[in-house]
Amino acid sequence: MNQQISASDKLSENNAILVINCGSSSVKFSLIEPTTGHSKLSGLAECLLTPQASIKINCPTATDVNNQKQVIALNAPYNHQKALSVLVETLQQLNLVKGIVAVGHRIVHGGEHYAQPTLIDNKVKSTIEKLAKLAPLHNPANLIGVNACQQAFANLPQVAIFDTAFHQSMPEKAYLYGLPYSLYQEHGIRRYGFHGTSHYFVAKQAAKSLQKPLSQCNLISAHLGNGCSVTVIKDGKSVDTSLGMTPLEGVMMGTRSGDVDAGIIVHLVEQLGYSIEQVDTLLNKQSGLLGLSTLSNDCRTLETAMLDESHPQSAQAKVALTVFCYRIAKSIASFTASLSHLDAIIFTGGIGENSSWVREQITKQLSLLNIQICPEKNETMRFGTSGNIATDASRACFVIATNEEWVIAEQSAQLLSQMTNNLEVEGK
Ligand code: ADP
Repeated sequence: MNQQISASDKLSENNAILVINCGSSSVKFSLIEPTTGHSKLSGLAECLLTPQASIKINCPTATDVNNQKQVIALNAPYNHQKALSVLVETLQQLNLVKGIVAVGHRIVHGGEHYAQPTLIDNKVKSTIEKLAKLAPLHNPANLIGVNACQQAFANLPQVAIFDTAFHQSMPEKAYLYGLPYSLYQEHGIRRYGFHGTSHYFVAKQAAKSLQKPLSQCNLISAHLGNGCSVTVIKDGKSVDTSLGMTPLEGVMMGTRSGDVDAGIIVHLVEQLGYSIEQVDTLLNKQSGLLGLSTLSNDCRTLETAMLDESHPQSAQAKVALTVFCYRIAKSIASFTASLSHLDAIIFTGGIGENSSWVREQITKQLSLLNIQICPEKNETMRFGTSGNIATDASRACFVIATNEEWVIAEQSAQLLSQMTNNLEVEGK
């Protein structure tokens, strides 16, 4: 398909979207059938721009066993472009290129510009670049992916799916900070929220389980991974979320502090001699579960240490996990202020999908919301299984394995279909 989409280009059942999530030193990719979410090939290139660069490609559909799983040590400081060329070669070898109709990119920050999937052209690229001042670690890396894919797949449309888009429905009362209004008007300083694609996916799945259209569902979802956020969804739309202008606000995370008294920053600088860079590193990389536990940002490591009383940091691991769970429970409870009724709460992300201990601790503190979980169901709902872990008398409490790649593929395909339909109506 050409970037100039023509009316004859209809999506067929075998078409797939190549989903790209590009970080500063990594590219995550997945070739997905948009209607089923089936992944034909997936993988990760990491440690790019270092001598340890490597690329791992899994292809469950390959008939040749040797082709199903490949880890290719690149043995050179490969960049994103070179890693993508290895991917293209593999796709060609497996005869998978022909079915690809578009590339869908996860773009972290769309500011107030993008609430919908968007076909990437030069104007969109320059807006993403301008928005890098709001997401300096993410948007430039996302653009590297777009540029590399434009070279590697010159004939394919490139679609941007923004992590902030789902939260563009937040009302003013939720997105404004209590700061001088001019900072919002002149500099865009407001709350944007992130993890939108994940919250949208799990909300849609919850609506299916509740057997109601998403547009009639009121939900609170907790995405708990290395980054964590809680979102309240009213009538299917995000009306508030815990992450703000940057992915630092809200609940405590793996290495990020979440909410702190902003006066602490002044104190660190003026009284303790921190530079702004040191404050930035402290809040983003040395805080959260890692900072409080003094052991690890990884929930599994902390749970193991907490349960092993002979572990030297057992008590400290418990402190970190206890604060983590309380802050999430508090965030979930506070978001009921946006709702007149609540259908369900949802847990997702690496911790939300797998840690029965964390789910138990959080829900124990939500009994006023009529949430009680069944210990047996809670214990079995792990490692990719999804379902309701609540008791019969309780409000629903879902564990749902997120699938952001599928949303990116689905929304990219929907945009292409809309565009071809529009062209047909226009008779082009
Ligand atoms: P990211 O935000 O990087 O996508 P993930 O969603 O993969 O992160 O979540 C990573 C977190 O999930 C880590 O803290 C990890 O310890 C936690 N996790 C993964 N599996 C389990 C498990 N079985 N029990 C508890 N925590 C888990």
